[in-house]
Amino acid sequence: KEEELRHAQKMEAVGQLTGGLAHDFNNLLAAVSGSVEMAHARLSEQRVDEIERYLAMASNATSRAANLTQRLMAFARKQALAPKPTDVARLCAGMVELVQRTVGPHIEVKTVANEDTWPSLVDQNQLENALLNLCINARDAMPAGGSLTIGVANCSISRGKAKTMGLGAGDYLRISVSDTGSGMSAEQIDRAFEPFFTTKPMGEGTGLGLSMVYGFAQQSGGAAEITSELGKGTVVSLYLPRGFDAVEAEPGADEVGDGERAAAPEK
Ligand code: ADP
Repeated sequence: KEEELRHAQKMEAVGQLTGGLAHDFNNLLAAVSGSVEMAHARLSEQRVDEIERYLAMASNATSRAANLTQRLMAFARKQALAPKPTDVARLCAGMVELVQRTVGPHIEVKTVANEDTWPSLVDQNQLENALLNLCINARDAMPAGGSLTIGVANCSISRGKAKTMGLGAGDYLRISVSDTGSGMSAEQIDRAFEPFFTTKPMGEGTGLGLSMVYGFAQQSGGAAEITSELGKGTVVSLYLPRGFDAVEAEPGADEVGDGERAAAPEK
């Protein structure tokens, strides 16, 4: 749970970082050029201590700008996946509490899973990230409340349908996040997976959530799909390939703690 929360916080940080990047970067550039100018002006007066101070300020602003771009590049780089055989229905059920806390009490959160859903070979952290993104979008689409359903179902996709989705025919796990919110127009659906496409006010939306979800689904060998009706609600579905491996026992919080303790003496 702590880790999920940290992921949610990271997502928020990424959003803020990207949204504020141009602004912050400009401020730093202004600081650099201002300091250099001041240093320059002191040259004729031979005020070495002042010149040093201004140059240090310029250098400081430069490294902060470099840090900013580095963080952005780290975000832009595809995160490597660490796939593990996963009981996706169980993972979703385990997220309900976090999702409920995140979306607020005016939205009813449910999970619906068929019995015996297949496992999938997937990066659990990134799946949780993606689902949390979808749930936050659902929340934003239901300011007056509503219901949010996370569904998991087995899904065999025929060749015809697979082709239109850019997938191979076969068995997939379909994970859907449905809301009873505002819905989306055909144009919004068309553009929703584009990076930086957002209809949210400046500073609130980054337009990165769905593009990241889409990238994750594709990297995992699956696909993402939106169906929506204005005024009724939206369903965003992830298709992940069926896995055949037995699902390992998930490490509990205790086990992780043990690992950390075991590693501590090495430091
Ligand atoms: P952001 O949420 O930052 O705007 P996203 O990429 O997650 O970025 O979403 C892009 C756009 O797609 C949103 O601005 C919104 O217009 C639309 N959208 C996404 N999810 C939903 C939803 N569940 N209901 C209605 N519109 C949605």
